[in-house]
Amino acid sequence: MYNPKSHNATEFIDHDEILETLAYAEANKANAELIDSILEKAELRKGLTHREASVLLACELPDRTERMYRLAEQIKKDFYGSRIVMFAPLYLSNYCVNGCVYCPYHYQNKHIARKKLSQEDIVREVTALQDMGHKRLALEAGEDPVNNPIEYILESIKTIYSIKHKNGAIRRVNVNIAATTVENYRKLRDAGIGTYILFQETYHKESYEKLHPTGPKHNYCYHTEAMDRAMQGGIDDVGLGVLFGLELYRYEFAGLLMHAEHLEAAYGVGPHTISVPRIKRADDIDPNVFDNGIDDDTFAKIVACIRIAVPYTGMIISTRESKSVRERLLHLGISQISGASKTSVGGYAEDEPEDEKSEQFDVSDNRTLDEVVRWLMEQGYIPSFCTACYREGRTGDRFMSLCKSGQIQNCCQPNALMTLKEYLMDYASPKTREVGERLIEEEMKNVASDKVRAIAEDRLVKIENGERDFRF
Ligand code: SAM
Repeated sequence: MYNPKSHNATEFIDHDEILETLAYAEANKANAELIDSILEKAELRKGLTHREASVLLACELPDRTERMYRLAEQIKKDFYGSRIVMFAPLYLSNYCVNGCVYCPYHYQNKHIARKKLSQEDIVREVTALQDMGHKRLALEAGEDPVNNPIEYILESIKTIYSIKHKNGAIRRVNVNIAATTVENYRKLRDAGIGTYILFQETYHKESYEKLHPTGPKHNYCYHTEAMDRAMQGGIDDVGLGVLFGLELYRYEFAGLLMHAEHLEAAYGVGPHTISVPRIKRADDIDPNVFDNGIDDDTFAKIVACIRIAVPYTGMIISTRESKSVRERLLHLGISQISGASKTSVGGYAEDEPEDEKSEQFDVSDNRTLDEVVRWLMEQGYIPSFCTACYREGRTGDRFMSLCKSGQIQNCCQPNALMTLKEYLMDYASPKTREVGERLIEEEMKNVASDKVRAIAEDRLVKIENGERDFRF
């Protein structure tokens, strides 16, 4: 029985409820009256249920779809302004005991180079990331209790936070590691992580079990209930995602929103972020083997519908996607992107030798961080290196209530501009700096409070004079 408050995966992600949702959406895909009423509700910016959002996703009326895209863009502007948060992944280890059929780290792959960063390697990699200008990382690791135990992850986090090279610092470490215990989540919380990210891969239990034939990840319920354990362990910012291409996208979309509804119903706080990865070519993985690949138009519609359904949830797109796809999706709701990413274990400090490749998948956007930052600014976006909320304790429901009241804007806009200023001073090319200085000048006018603007102006001068790390 469907029950969003239940702590049981098969009750909060109820298969029959998803099937009924899909049938309802299909039956109403051309029901203009219903679609209009859902769009009107969406315009209130308080979100939609999985059923309502599924009708929008199925909608076949071109004018309504257009309206949906415009609304998604407007909601994004209302909640996130023109800010785009920047991050980079850091792969710690690709040792893995699982058998995930879409991932080249699966344990039967004898071809891929297996690597694990030592603490000295981490210092080198993080120094290289700091020298690019990154302030926020997402840690990635395969699941291997012997090679990558929680102690290794914790030690690595400690090392990362301790590295201060020139004006550089990693100020927020998000973690994407396999589902674990409440006790381990508590340890990650105590280590000062930002968001705990775990992709569901697929919400379809039967497919999930086939796609994860062996290893601890085979256990659908343990994996699906990971966010519950993370919350019980005191982590209140969690990031959801599905790997599009594995199952029917409409099924995944409904499951994803049901998961968000569950977190809201059971813990009073929805997901902090949602990621939308698509399967990519990798060492021994051919994405064409999977039948459910989605084209760029469908992908754009999914992103727009997520934006409308959960306005307070950040949306992340990685370098799995090309520059042009990223450009399109930024309009429809994406609020965080990675830049200059390497999906190999090591690779930031030095390129990997040809015969020792350890990448998880091919990236489609190979630009430098400077190029990505300039490209964003040339389109009117503010690349933000801000990490203030979590460092000020604005996480979970505290973050959400500030967000819902609109008060967060008073912090976000100046924080984004001050961290961009740091980037321009310390890392940007002359051309990027020029574009950035003009943008900061323009965007300072959009800081609503006179008092906050005056303080921010003063801090921009201080940054120019060498001081760092201001925040509201
Ligand atoms: N091992 C952890 C886990 O079980 O969640 C850590 C995450 S893994 C390093 C990061 C994510 O990469 C996976 O959750 C999966 O969705 C994604 N991934 C795996 N293979 C991929 C592929 N071929 N193309 C794109 N993304 C892939």
